[in-house]
Amino acid sequence: MTQFPVKDGELLIGGISLSQLAARVGRTPFYAYDRQLLNQRIDALRAALPPQVKLHYAMKANPMPALVCHMASRVDGIDVASAGELKVALDAGANPREISFAGPGKTDAELRQAVAAGILINVESFREVPVLATVSQALGLPARVAVRVNPDFELKSSGMKMGGGPKQFGVDAEHVPELLGQIGAAGLAFEGFHLFAGSQNLKAESIVEAQQKSFALALKLAEFAPAPVRFLNLGGGFGIPYFPGEQCLDLGPIGSNLADIVGQAATKLPEAEIVIELGRYFVGEAGVYVCRILDRKVSREHTYLVADGGLHHHLSASGNFGQVIRKNYPVAIGNRMDATETESASLVGPLCTPLDLLADRMTLPKAGPGDLAVVFQSGAYGASASPQGFLGHPAVTEVLI
Ligand SMILES: *Cc1c(COP(=O)(O)O)cnc(C)c1O
Repeated sequence: MTQFPVKDGELLIGGISLSQLAARVGRTPFYAYDRQLLNQRIDALRAALPPQVKLHYAMKANPMPALVCHMASRVDGIDVASAGELKVALDAGANPREISFAGPGKTDAELRQAVAAGILINVESFREVPVLATVSQALGLPARVAVRVNPDFELKSSGMKMGGGPKQFGVDAEHVPELLGQIGAAGLAFEGFHLFAGSQNLKAESIVEAQQKSFALALKLAEFAPAPVRFLNLGGGFGIPYFPGEQCLDLGPIGSNLADIVGQAATKLPEAEIVIELGRYFVGEAGVYVCRILDRKVSREHTYLVADGGLHHHLSASGNFGQVIRKNYPVAIGNRMDATETESASLVGPLCTPLDLLADRMTLPKAGPGDLAVVFQSGAYGASASPQGFLGHPAVTEVLI
């Protein structure tokens, strides 16, 4: 993976050789996230997108507190999906006015915390309106709300669809006018709309199409709004390449399209700030998962490298987090980057289940106990998206370098 250089046969993470980093961390397995790569990604987005577009970090992709803190000081807002994430975002110093809260099952207690914090709540159900009205009255603070719309279209070629058709997310577009009426009647502070159609998309033209349709839908719905639209979150869904043959997302057409939307918004929704929210795209390529090989076994001519890490820390790489057909994440032996002798081997974890597979029959440098296996593209949906309690192994360590 080109984002991490190699020196003297060792991968460098944040400028530190992998062996030295492992010694510094003091144990394996661990995740390491590279600050410079996070910064580069933010800079690349700012360069490609119009300056008026606000960048929000959807912290469910990686909620490590130090990383959220790093992001909070560099992006324009943080999107949270629970009161637990809200606490991390507030602790990280994010401005409450620039925090938004989405989620299909917000508890009354979470809604109360959100109103008290002064953040923007993306309303996803008629049920939330009277709860927010009661809480607003009790606290003497009007709830700031946007409506999360389940659009009447889908994000084409998306890895995970989260809008269009029947969905548990948001309110179906056709019922939004009625919801807006209730929000107005309840005296909540209406601020805008949130549309999120899907995740992990590598096709710029699909993202452009979804953003155009989202903008058109928001314009229609704005006619029913009890107050001017000040905040229009057009979602994200920007993907990163994981598997052979996948190409990086081309930001060029997305930037031009957003410039066009910003131009139209200037007259049609003059008070609106255009926001996109990204998780994986900000952090995914900046992180690696590192585990140490414990054993090398040959079973009927097939080589297994048995590592101290596996699916309990990295469910996504094992293929059990939303993959339909299992494919290998990019994997390397990080302390043998110059090796010339290779073999076909499977990298497996210590769990007593055949699902604990990090690389299936991959060509890797010949490796054995003590070597460090590295899974790239691991900065998003890693530690926090894995069943760490499964089989009772120690929890993973995370470092930001
Ligand atoms: C999961 C999620 C995101 C982040 O998605 P990525 O694919 O990681 O960019 C953004 N917004 C909402 C509402 C989400 O649920």
